[in-house]
This record gives sequence, structure tokens and C-alpha cells, in this order.
Amino acid sequence: MALQLYNTLTRRKDELIPLDPARLRLYVCGPTVYDYAHIGNARPLIVFDVLFRMLRHLYGADHVTYVRNITDVDDKINARAAARGISIRELTEETNTIFQEDAQALGCLPPTIQPRATEHIAAMITIIEKLLENGHAYVGDGHVLFSVPSMPDYGRLSRRPLDEMIAGARVDVAPYKKGDLDFVLWKPSTADEPGWESPWGRGRPGWHIECSAMSWTYLGETFDIHGGGIDLVFPHHENEIAQSCCAFGHDVMANIWMHNGFLQVEGEKMSKSLGNFITIRQALADWPGEVLRFNMLKTHYRQPIDWTVAGLRESQRELDRWYPIAKQYAESEAILAPEFVAALEDDLNTPDAITIMRRLYKETTEEIAFAGARFASCGHLLGLFEKTQAEWTHWKPADFRIDEILVAHKIKERLDARKAKDWAASDRIRDELVEMGIALKDNKDGTTTWEVKR
Ligand code: AMP
Ligand code: ZN
Repeated sequence: MALQLYNTLTRRKDELIPLDPARLRLYVCGPTVYDYAHIGNARPLIVFDVLFRMLRHLYGADHVTYVRNITDVDDKINARAAARGISIRELTEETNTIFQEDAQALGCLPPTIQPRATEHIAAMITIIEKLLENGHAYVGDGHVLFSVPSMPDYGRLSRRPLDEMIAGARVDVAPYKKGDLDFVLWKPSTADEPGWESPWGRGRPGWHIECSAMSWTYLGETFDIHGGGIDLVFPHHENEIAQSCCAFGHDVMANIWMHNGFLQVEGEKMSKSLGNFITIRQALADWPGEVLRFNMLKTHYRQPIDWTVAGLRESQRELDRWYPIAKQYAESEAILAPEFVAALEDDLNTPDAITIMRRLYKETTEEIAFAGARFASCGHLLGLFEKTQAEWTHWKPADFRIDEILVAHKIKERLDARKAKDWAASDRIRDELVEMGIALKDNKDGTTTWEVKR
């Protein structure tokens, strides 16, 4: 079976037919670098990393180009830099470094290219000039705007009725705008705002044009797959399509448009005001990166995820069980289970792929031939089992403190309860320790030892 991916453009699973199998091309919208990324942002990072790994498996590692941009010019960046009293460059450098460290800790391979918007201003200007030349853009009051009515099939991706698009675009009514949906390609900058010289005066780009310029620079006028979170369908991706198709005269910008569903926390939308806002950094202080990754992949990428501590605990326990077996077969020749590959070929069905890993794990414990090697290889394709057993076992949450005297005291108390055959008390003490993140092991010689477990 060939790789089938759900295409937002056609609203069905489409077979990926590469424009050039020797150079499969993927573009994913990256972060706006002004603050720590949150656990919702980790979802596209991990989902498209699995896609990247799968494409490398199918087409060869040297035949896939994955571009994920860095948006380092944006009004949120200007405001944050001003509030912190640092330069824009300082803020974007600092935030980008944090983001790269987070992505690595989540087990994501670096994309082939990570272009910065500010280094592609010339390409943006070239595209805007093309749009002005062929009547798809106009100048008004120092701004350049894309003329939505100039594109008859605008809205093909999001398929929303016109009034909904107008409401969803949430763009200000401005005197220089001719159509309600027209959007900014270029806007003027005041002396204290970042700006670049252009044919329309000193200014800066709109957000959408950045991605059209960077995808064009590295992947060409049309390419294979474009990805991002579901919230980007409208207006961001719709507008990228409008700009690129109208500038270059093609019907399509990318053949397949993939969108990940949203993540919510303990049943609620994540927001600063609800106090349930989790940065990737905080999550990494509490859990190993592979637990976060595995937990993310247990849900299909298009479904919403409910991010819960209970789910994370479950993921941690499963990986704890899996690690020794995976390490035992780490040196075996890589052989993927065909049904595992088939699950991923079916629109990146990671929950099904994980179910197959569970079966392989069971078969390994039953010593069925090749099951162990398959189990380890499948895990690697998902970006798991990258630590040594020692690293895995000794990992501790950043704020983990153990009161060893208290633990010793509780073990003694439990021993006394067992001697008195008070099993209820013995179980209660064991449960208390589990709550503290400590697992007990009763040894054959009558002693009890403990280790850190969650
Ligand atoms: P932003 O920095 O808000 O542009 O987001 C960067 C990426 O994260 C985009 O692809 C968004 O669609 C995605 N994203 C933002 N919030 C969430 C969320 N709660 N769940 C899943 N993806 C998200
Ligand atoms: Zn984009």
C-alpha cells in the first residue's frame, strides 16, 4: 500500500503521489518566536516529525526535504521585546534556542531547513511585485493588499461561506481596503518598528506572505505536502494558497494539506486565565521527553487530545515495561513489522501502530521469532527508545526530592504491619509510597528495596 494522507483540500484520504520521488517536499508552519512554546505547539512538532521519519523510511533519508520556518518578525514579538527592554533580535534568538532545545528533547529530528522570515524579505518583495503586476494586489496608503475578489476560487481549502470567512478573518476595517477579505501583504513601519526598504517605502511583511516566500525559496512553486495545526486552515493557509497560486499561475500550491487536531488539558481549553497553560519546558521538567511524545502519539493526529496526568502516568508505565525489551534487541537488524508500516501508511495511524507494538511486545515475551527485533525497530520509527536503559531508569523530575528517612520509616511500618498480618495497612502504606513516586520491591531474602517510579 502506498502512503494515504487525509487531505483538507479534498476532504478525503489521498494517495501521496510525489512530484519527484527523489525529492519529496514537505513544509510545516513553525513557531512565532516570542515566548516559550506550549504543549499544544508540541503536537504539530511531534506529528510532522513522525511523518518526516515515515517519508524518510519510504523514500530514503536523502530524498526528503522538510522545511519548518521560524517567524521572527511579528507584532507580538515587537511588543514583547519592548516590554522586556531587549532588542527584537535578542528576544527571537533566545526564544528560538529554547524552541530548538524543546524539539530535541521531544525526540524530533531537525528539519532539513529552518528558514527565518527576516532572511527572506527579498523573496517576499518579489512575490508581492508579481501579484501587483498581474492584478491580484493593490497599494493603498503605504500598504500592499491582496485582492480576494481577484481570485475566483478563493476559499477552496476552508470551504466556508463568505460571511463566515469575513467574521473568521477578524481583520480590521481600514480605509485603504477595497474588499472585506483583502489582507495585508506589506505594511509601513514607524521609525521604532522593525522595517526593510521596499518599493512601497520602509515597512514589514504580513504574516501569510512569509510562508509563501520561504516555501517557494526551498521547495519551489508547487510541492507535495503542507502541514500545520487545524487553526491555520483559515485564514493563514487559505491566504498562502491565494498568494502562491496567483503569483506563480498554478492551481495548487501543495498537493496535500495536513492539519493536526487541537490539544486540551484535563478536558478544558488551555489558557493562561484558566491556569492550565503548560509550556513544553514545564512538561519536560515533570516527564521524560519520550513519555510526552508517546502520550501524544496514542491519539490519532486528527482527533482532539485530552492531555491528562492520568494519561501521562499510563504512558510512563508502558514505556517502563517496554524499555528493557527494546534495549535487549537494540543491536538486532532493523525489521519493521509490515502491519505496523501499513497502519502508518493509513493516514499516519499511530494509535493502531502502537496497538501492533503491544502485540509484538507480548510475542517477544513469548519468545516468538523476530518479534523482539520488530518491536525495537517499530519503536525507533516512532522516535522511541533513544535513551540507554540507565538514562531511562535514572531520570527524575526536576523538582524531585526524596525524604529517605521518611521512606525508610514507612518501609519499617509496612514490615511490622505484614508481620501482624495486617494486609490492609500494608497495602495502604505501599499506596502512599506510590503516590510519592516510589515503588517497593519485596526481595526473596525478606528485605524491601525501593526505586523511583511514577
Ligand atoms: P502558533 O505559535 O500559535 O502559531 O502555533 C504554532 C503551531 O502550533 C501551529 O501549527 C498551531 O496550529 C499549533 N497549535 C497551537 N495551539 C495548539 C493546540 N492547543 N493544539 C494543537 N496544536 C496547536
Ligand atoms: Zn505558514
